[in-house]
Amino acid sequence: MTKTVPLDRIAAAYQLGLRDFGENRVQEGMGKIADSAALGLTLARWHLVGHLQTNKVKTAVAIFDIIHSIDSVHLAEAVSRRAVAAGRTVPVLLEVNVAGEASKFGFSPGELPAALEQISKMPGLQLEGLMTVAPLARDPEEIRPVFRRLRELWDELRQSYNLSHFRHLSMGMTDDYQVAIQEGATMVRLGRAIFGERR
Ligand SMILES: *Cc1c(COP(=O)(O)O)cnc(C)c1O
Repeated sequence: MTKTVPLDRIAAAYQLGLRDFGENRVQEGMGKIADSAALGLTLARWHLVGHLQTNKVKTAVAIFDIIHSIDSVHLAEAVSRRAVAAGRTVPVLLEVNVAGEASKFGFSPGELPAALEQISKMPGLQLEGLMTVAPLARDPEEIRPVFRRLRELWDELRQSYNLSHFRHLSMGMTDDYQVAIQEGATMVRLGRAIFGERR
C-alpha cells in the first residue's frame, strides 16, 4: 500500500522486487502511475483498494490493473461499461462489510449472492474474489472472526457458483495480516509494515 508514499520510495521497493502496489484514491494514483511508467517501473501492478466514485471510473479503468473495492451493483455496471469501451477486462473483487459498520462501504453478507450473480454476468469484468476492511481493534485476535466469516462466505460462493477466477481473499493490513493469513488471505495489503509510519 503506497498511499502517501512518494514515488522515489516506491521505486526503491520495486528495485528490491516488489511488483504489486496499492492506492486508495484515484487522484493520488493518477500522477504516481503515470510517473512510475516514465521511471521504468513497467512491471508494476497497480491495485485500487479505496472507495471508487462513479465519476472517477473512467480514469480508474485506464490506470489500475485490479479494483478491490466494488461495493455496489451500480458501481460494477459503471466499471463494466468503461471496461468494454476501453476494450479490456478488469479484474475486480467485491468489498464486503462483514462487521456491518455504518462507516464502511461494501456489500452486507446477505446481499452478496444476488449481487455476485448479477456482477458475474457483466462484460468486461473478471470477478476474482472478495475483499474486506476490518474494524479497528487493539488486539488483532478480535478481528479473527471477521476474517473467518469472509473466508466462509468465499467458500460458500465458490461452491454455489461456477466462477473460474474466484480465487482471491484480500484481507489483512499491517496490524493484523498474520491473523488474516492464518484465516486464508491470498492478498494482504501492507502499508506501514513495508514503508513505515505515514506522515
Ligand atoms: C492504507 C490501507 C491499507 C494499509 O494499511 P497499513 O495499516 O498501513 O498496512 C490497507 N487497506 C486499505 C484499504 C488501506 O486504505
